[in-house]
Amino acid sequence: MTALATPAPSARRLRTRATLLAVLSEHGTLSRAEISRLTGLSRSAVSSAVTDLLDEGLVSETTSPAPATAGRGRRAAAVTLRRAHALVLAFDFGHTHVTAAVADTTGTVLGEATAHLDVDNHPREVLDAAESLARQALDAAGHRLDEITALAAGIPGALDTRTNVVRAPSTLSQWIGMDPAAELGRVFGRPVAVGNDAEMGARGERAYGTGHTVNDLVYVKASTGIGAGLLLDGRIYRGASGISGEIGHIQLPDTGTWCRCGNRGCLESVASIVEVRRRLVHVLAPGARPGETVDLPPLDRLADVPAAARVIGEAGRTIGRVLADLVNCLNPAAIIIGGELGQAGDPLVHGIRESVDRYAQPAVAEAVDIRATRLGLRSELYGAIDAAITVATTRTH
Ligand SMILES: [Zn+2]
Repeated sequence: MTALATPAPSARRLRTRATLLAVLSEHGTLSRAEISRLTGLSRSAVSSAVTDLLDEGLVSETTSPAPATAGRGRRAAAVTLRRAHALVLAFDFGHTHVTAAVADTTGTVLGEATAHLDVDNHPREVLDAAESLARQALDAAGHRLDEITALAAGIPGALDTRTNVVRAPSTLSQWIGMDPAAELGRVFGRPVAVGNDAEMGARGERAYGTGHTVNDLVYVKASTGIGAGLLLDGRIYRGASGISGEIGHIQLPDTGTWCRCGNRGCLESVASIVEVRRRLVHVLAPGARPGETVDLPPLDRLADVPAAARVIGEAGRTIGRVLADLVNCLNPAAIIIGGELGQAGDPLVHGIRESVDRYAQPAVAEAVDIRATRLGLRSELYGAIDAAITVATTRTH
């Protein structure tokens, strides 16, 4: 199996930024002119990179004389690296991708790298890829592996919190019986937190997303599978064995479609991104032969295409039928929709809203705000960053 690293959209910018971070890390405080001399980068490249780093809060700039220019009578602005007290690594494992990110304890992402590969069927290769992606992300950030204090990962499968192993039923058929935290601990030699992807999504939304002030929220990862991460009373709720939130396998009335779990009529057998894409191909490319690959526009551009919006709205109403029961049980303040299908935005959210209003008790329906994520596909990654920071800042040294 080949893991193809995705070329970073702004590889040159990331390199410049890594060079600057490295030179500041080595020298402490430098003027822009000195950075230019030490790195061989043009003054304008240094200037725009410094502006980026200032915007991100990674450096500060003062007008006191920089050491090497002092005494020449010129007051040069001095750029200093702001050091967060620890660095963490975070991983988002999807079914077909792995992303690694290096962040500091303020949650600022300093570098990241993604590879597309078959995560479900090749656990060994995935762990190897995770190590190489971590090194790429560290290179982009201008840091080394030995500077990392802790790491965390979200995995797209059922994880038994009593034993830490992946369990069936799970899409990760080749991972069953594996202990991802122990494997990652062996690879990186640091404390590790692991959770399922929907749980990480809920954490990410609470820490960095639209759920920032919300203590009772449900994050729905609507992708190949459909799972919910539950944050209740300000805490992640995992259940007795860690497998709460498997809403993708709640049965719908009047649906007989077979699900990969062996039952019929499960939510994800009719409203997964795979099913929605299949129907979108049907309405957007009616001439396509069965099995033919059709490039669809991104889901967030389909709100104004009536037939497509109808397909997405229908998936929303179906998911909302199940969420209405969850709303009746849990009375959350917010439901945040993420995952690939979550990128569809308004038509999906309106469909969900319609069913929640129709099927949940009026008082609980009224109390819940239903929104699409604003973190794109990064809720899970930000959740892993939050989990890693928790490990880094609470463990005893
Ligand atoms: Zn099922």
